[in-house]
Amino acid sequence: MTKTRLEENFLLRNSRHLLLNEFDENSILRLTSARILIVGAGGLGCPAALYLATAGVKNIKWVDPDNVEISNLPRQVIFTEKDLNIPKVSAGKRMLSNIVPEVNIDAIHDQADETNLNKLIAGCEIVLDCTDRFKTRHLINKFCIQNKVPLVIGSAVGWSGQLLVVDPSSQNAACYACVFEKNPEFIDHSCGAFGIFSPVVGTIGVLQAGEAIKTLLKIKQTAGKLLLFDGLSMSFNQINVTKNIHCKVCSNSNGLKS
Ligand SMILES: [Zn+2]
Repeated sequence: MTKTRLEENFLLRNSRHLLLNEFDENSILRLTSARILIVGAGGLGCPAALYLATAGVKNIKWVDPDNVEISNLPRQVIFTEKDLNIPKVSAGKRMLSNIVPEVNIDAIHDQADETNLNKLIAGCEIVLDCTDRFKTRHLINKFCIQNKVPLVIGSAVGWSGQLLVVDPSSQNAACYACVFEKNPEFIDHSCGAFGIFSPVVGTIGVLQAGEAIKTLLKIKQTAGKLLLFDGLSMSFNQINVTKNIHCKVCSNSNGLKS
């Protein structure tokens, strides 16, 4: 059967992914039909959204409460000075739509919290936590576990970055709360308080997109491994993290929804 020009363009555009053993045409079609929630449109969310959209993900729900500020520009590289003071998700939607006209971005200018996370997660097959707050990360983790939706968590501060995939379908894989105990005494600071090396946060954001794609396509499961990146010494370390059977979020023994 001869292929239409549309089909030829589709194959040509995705040809470098299709050369990989782990990809076939169904993989790309799977990405085009996937629905993804990205929480945060900062240094993690911008590269993550860019790499997901260009890889073929068409349906992205993107939530963030902030407007673009001049101090964002060195690492939130899809924004320009023309975007200053407008919502990040609106500026991000406009830029990504220029790069990938087929992408459908639901831009939500709001803070993700207890009141809206169930609704935000509804209908999504994977969530990316691209926030910079400890408390919000715990909340997203809890709601993803309750909704049985995989979560790719990224974080970065100073010269260091972390990445953790949480897969609620895996009986033995740790959730975020298994690894990082929630501490009400903890004072939450965004990177504005400590500084951040832009390429470090960009690296973690790109890796989040990669892990989201791999999780969607079931290419290789990395849940249960915490990646630690040190951008100063240029080292990557991966440590196994185990499920805490007493975890208040993911353990059935606590009688909570899992
Ligand atoms: Zn847990």
